[in-house]
Amino acid sequence: MKFSQYFLPTLKEVPSDAVIPSHILMVRAGMIRQLTAGVYSYLPLGLRVFKKIEKIVREEMDAIGGSEFYLPALSPNELWAETGRLEDYGDDIFRIKNRELVLAPTHEEVFTSIAKPNLISYKNLPQIWYQIQTKFRNEPRPRGGVLRGRQFTMKDAYSFDATWEGLDESYNKNAQAYRNIFTRCGLKFFTVTAFSGAMGGSESEEFMVEAEAGEDTVVISSDNKYSSNLEVAVSFSENIGRKNSGLEIEEFHTPNIKSIEELAGFLKITDKSRLAKSRLFVIPAKSEGKKDEYLLALVCGDDEFSETKLAKIFAGIRPGHPEELFDIAGAEAGSIGPVNLKNKTVKIIADLKLKDADELISGACKNDYHIKNIDLKRDVVGIEYFDIRTVKDGEETVDRSSKLRMTKAIEVGHIFKLGTRYAEALGAKYLDVNGKDNVIIMGSYGIGIERIAAAYIEQNHDKDGIIWSGEISPFDIHLISVNKKSDNIKAEAEKIYNELITAGYEVLFDDRDDISPGVKFKDADLIGVPVQVVVSDKNMKNGEIEIKERRTGDRYRIQISDFNQKIKEIIGNINKN
Ligand code: ATP
Ligand code: MG
Repeated sequence: MKFSQYFLPTLKEVPSDAVIPSHILMVRAGMIRQLTAGVYSYLPLGLRVFKKIEKIVREEMDAIGGSEFYLPALSPNELWAETGRLEDYGDDIFRIKNRELVLAPTHEEVFTSIAKPNLISYKNLPQIWYQIQTKFRNEPRPRGGVLRGRQFTMKDAYSFDATWEGLDESYNKNAQAYRNIFTRCGLKFFTVTAFSGAMGGSESEEFMVEAEAGEDTVVISSDNKYSSNLEVAVSFSENIGRKNSGLEIEEFHTPNIKSIEELAGFLKITDKSRLAKSRLFVIPAKSEGKKDEYLLALVCGDDEFSETKLAKIFAGIRPGHPEELFDIAGAEAGSIGPVNLKNKTVKIIADLKLKDADELISGACKNDYHIKNIDLKRDVVGIEYFDIRTVKDGEETVDRSSKLRMTKAIEVGHIFKLGTRYAEALGAKYLDVNGKDNVIIMGSYGIGIERIAAAYIEQNHDKDGIIWSGEISPFDIHLISVNKKSDNIKAEAEKIYNELITAGYEVLFDDRDDISPGVKFKDADLIGVPVQVVVSDKNMKNGEIEIKERRTGDRYRIQISDFNQKIKEIIGNINKN
């Protein structure tokens, strides 16, 4: 590709709306341009990278026996209403106002609607279906360029199985394909077990790339054997134990003391573990005629609640509103506790660290009062214990073999065991060997194409620009001719360009006439092709060509006669790493 003919608008300045490195560099390197919030045009260089990622994805999906589809983005409202997701998605789904249509944010419904009349016998199963297609999501906070767009490309795959063992097998195949894909894309990744939330699935895993720009907080052990989303992470946590002094509970006045910090200051103590933090939750009634239930949860004063862990134990749980607090506990948020609750039906639970603990201090369920010497064993009948705390940076793994580190990560892929949720809602059934009707068991597997590119750049850049390597690099070689209009250097460079192309390399040839060498070098570093080849008058005089490795900055002067061999070696080495 000749630079002079290619549309490759590089920028010196940092775009004003870009904050994270990948966004800044994708715009500066001429890969993308924003059209409107969260909506991007892919310029030729960007498209080249995305297509390479798609190629890898396609090859790995085909390798596990996936069949490629291409389904429409427009789909009828009724289909989404049938699974209840028109409502679930709310404002996050794009709806076409003058037609009863939505722009699909994902394709479980549409794929299942194809499965229903076609996968009717056990003989038709299992199947893995996939597509690489544009998705539309009205993300409330599009950010980071293509990292979180409102229009983006996803590879979404769906498995259809007759049995749960079959689902396990399909899921494992997809997981392996994902590992292959991310490895080939040059990402350093890890997986975390995810809470499947609104998708309504059971087991699910997210593929994560560590990056400061990431929106997910994750925990990784220093030996890399354990990784988890922060909300569900577990650590070694010691029970705070009993003091067994047998002291009776005692109410005391704590005017205007609302937080644990204020309480610790008031009592002049630094160890906050026995200042039990109490929070009231509501578990909505599961069926009509049933009543909402109330839950008071306790953690140590120096811990935080994990609402995700709570939601895993008590489905649908939500924090109590201020009015509810007064009605149920008899006090405001800063003054509630497990003793003297106004409503006696409140279920009380505590974190495992508090198991059977005594000499606790908590709210008195009376504004501006606290109670001390609470003994959970003695004073709180029917209390149950669960792991409901959020782990902290630096804690040990459960088996105490390694330390946990908290960091930020980007989710690049997500695999779910959906089970029968969609097939059930849409009535997708198959006949088993005995001629009996059964609901098809499904999995769904998604990868963000542009997000892979963004995540790669987050992990592979320096102050000068992007550092590509391996299969997703837009080109193998960036050939620069340092020529003046008058000399024959450009003709020499063009000869090398043609030879490299004949040898099978993808070459970006900076043949521009009116551009200074300095600008060409800066552009080359910004665009980040792994190998730069410089043809200049100075070197040519000695019969030499210069090669620079983008990542290391290493430069080599090569005799023209050795060039073909050397370039092969260098590219081979880069792709090995
Ligand atoms: P997130 O938690 O980041 O919103 P998600 O859980 O909504 O992601 P899925 O519905 O599982 O994502 O989609 C599968 C993959 O599609 C994600 O792993 C991610 O790589 C990509 N993806 C999701 N939303 C976006 C988006 N708004 N822009 C770009 N890629 C996206
Ligand atoms: Mg999302």
